[in-house]
Order: sequence, then C-alpha cells, then structure tokens
Amino acid sequence: MGWENLRGQDAAVAALRRDLTSGRVAHAYVFHGPPGAGKGTAARLFAQALQCEAPEAERPCGACLPCRKVAGGVHPDVVTVRPEMDRSGKPKRSIGIDAVREQVLARAYLRPQEGRRQAFILDNSDEPVTVDAFSALLKTLEEPSPDTLLLLLTPNLQGLPATIVSRCRKVRFRALARADQRAVLASLQEAGRWEGEGMEPDEVISLTMGRLGLALEGGAEALARRREAALEFIEGLSAPPGKADEVQLLLLAGGQVAGGEASREAAVRFLEMLRGLLRDILILQAAPGAVEPWHADLEETLAGIGRRWGMNGLTEALDRVEAALHDVGVVNTNPALTLEALVFALRATVALNA
Ligand SMILES: [Zn+2]
Repeated sequence: MGWENLRGQDAAVAALRRDLTSGRVAHAYVFHGPPGAGKGTAARLFAQALQCEAPEAERPCGACLPCRKVAGGVHPDVVTVRPEMDRSGKPKRSIGIDAVREQVLARAYLRPQEGRRQAFILDNSDEPVTVDAFSALLKTLEEPSPDTLLLLLTPNLQGLPATIVSRCRKVRFRALARADQRAVLASLQEAGRWEGEGMEPDEVISLTMGRLGLALEGGAEALARRREAALEFIEGLSAPPGKADEVQLLLLAGGQVAGGEASREAAVRFLEMLRGLLRDILILQAAPGAVEPWHADLEETLAGIGRRWGMNGLTEALDRVEAALHDVGVVNTNPALTLEALVFALRATVALNA
C-alpha cells in the first residue's frame, strides 16, 4: 500500500521519492492542484515514508507499525492541523492563528516522539488557512527546525501569501483524467471502500466533479439530488425577464438549507455544485470540444443555457457564486440569507446580459 495508490501523478510521485531517497527532504512543501487530485493521499504517503521502518526503497510499506499509525491518524509525530473551536465549542470553518499556535508552533521545535521527523499537514482547501495563521507560520519557515516538515495543501498557489510560497518546495498535482478516476473507483471498489450505490463510475465522477472522496462519504444519492436542484435553479434563472418565477427560485434555494447545524455545510455543497455546473457551461461556451466537462451527460442542456447567458453573464455569475461561497464558508454569513441575496443578484446578471 505505497505510492502505487496515487494514480495519475507520476511527476509528483517521482519528485517526492527522489527527495526521500536522496535524503534531501525540504523543510516545507506546497502541494498544489485541483480538488480530488490526490494531494491528501500524497501527504499521508510522504508522512508515512518519513516514519516507515521498511528498507528505504520500499517506503512507505503501509504495513509496519509507524505506517499504520500514520494511516490511522494516531502517529504522534504526524499532525493534521484542524480548525480551532469557536466559543460555542464547534470547529471553525478556517484554520486560524490559534490553531497554528497550539498545534504547530508549540511543538515545532521539540524532538519527534517516536519517528524520525515531525510532520505538520495544513490543508488550505476545505478549511482555508487565515492570513494571520500564515504570518505565524512564517517564523518556522524562516528558522526551520531540522526535525520538522511542513506540508501545505492548496488548490492554487495564488491563494497563499508569496512570502510563504517562496520558502516552500512546490509540487504540482494535475487534474485526474477520467480514465484515472475510473481506475481509482475500481480499486476502491476492490478494496471494499466503495459499494457503488447502484451507480455507474462515470455517473459518480460527474456528480462529485472529481472529488471522489464525496462519494466515499456515502453521499452519491444526495449528490444526485443536489445536482438536480442546482440544475433546476440555473434553468429557472435563465427564464426570460417577466417569466421567471422568483418565488419558486427562492423556495428552491431555501430548500437547500433545511435549518439547524447542517445548513451551512448544505449551503456550501449546493453552491459548489452550482459553481461546477456554471464552470461546465462556461467551458462549453468558451472552448467547445477542448475540455471534457464534468457533467458530460448534461452537455446539451448546459450548452443551451450557455447560449442564453452569454460569456459575460456566465463569468459574472461565477464570480457571484464564488463570493457567496466565501461568505457562507469563511465569513460565516447566514446561509439562507446569502442564498436569497444570490437569487436576486443572479437574476439581475442574467437579465442584464441576456
Ligand atoms: Zn512502513
């Protein structure tokens, strides 16, 4: 269970293995690339290889005690930094300065407890690292301890301060081709980690937009329902001025946030689905045939919507959805109100550009 688990990332794997076998592991790395590319898996394998007890060429073996501890998230020298708790005791949506202080800085200059080196993994994708937290990290990057390794995971380098990026070794992860994703699903199925839920692999790839982890969380059917709602939402927005049923759109958006604690998460997932569909529509308009859209099965419908919205309307709409995602996910605005405001903003965008 070693590097062969990371599909379609030969260049990244080769670079990391070279560093490991030449004994020239850097103090900090940035793994950058789209969601679902395998950055998290690579970080785990790299951390395992640093602690593994197998002969060097076979690291990580996946079988020795340190390897199993890292895989299980219980190795004391491999720390995945989590967001701190807010006042009510719930985890925040971003990794802030307190999390970095408590989980990284407090330990970065101590000796490893069991392994050869301490590894700190910070994933900037789902739970963004705040600017304050990055500033705090700078110190460890400027005066690194020889026993410490920092792994930063991020969808794109632009999301990180340049002062951070310049001090890290950069490893690029590319978007996985459909064939690679099918292979990933097949091996997951073989390993009994994914049951299929009565869906074709291609259907799952479309629904998760490449983030196969979402399907593993047991939500393929929920994803299908969410995509249906997002598509209905976009089609409703496309209706000509005067004919759009705004009440219906508000109800539809409101239905995505059923209330309670889960509503923020639900709103984020709905907005991500909207963003994915809008990106596909934009790709189909801008460069038809050049890139395969995630939702290849909806190609005709999406191309039709694109013709009605136009390029300007689509880029503007994407910006608005992106902003709403930031509001709900990071700024912590009220999910229902944010979606409501989005309905009116998008209606204005479509009306203006149609
Ligand atoms: Zn091992």
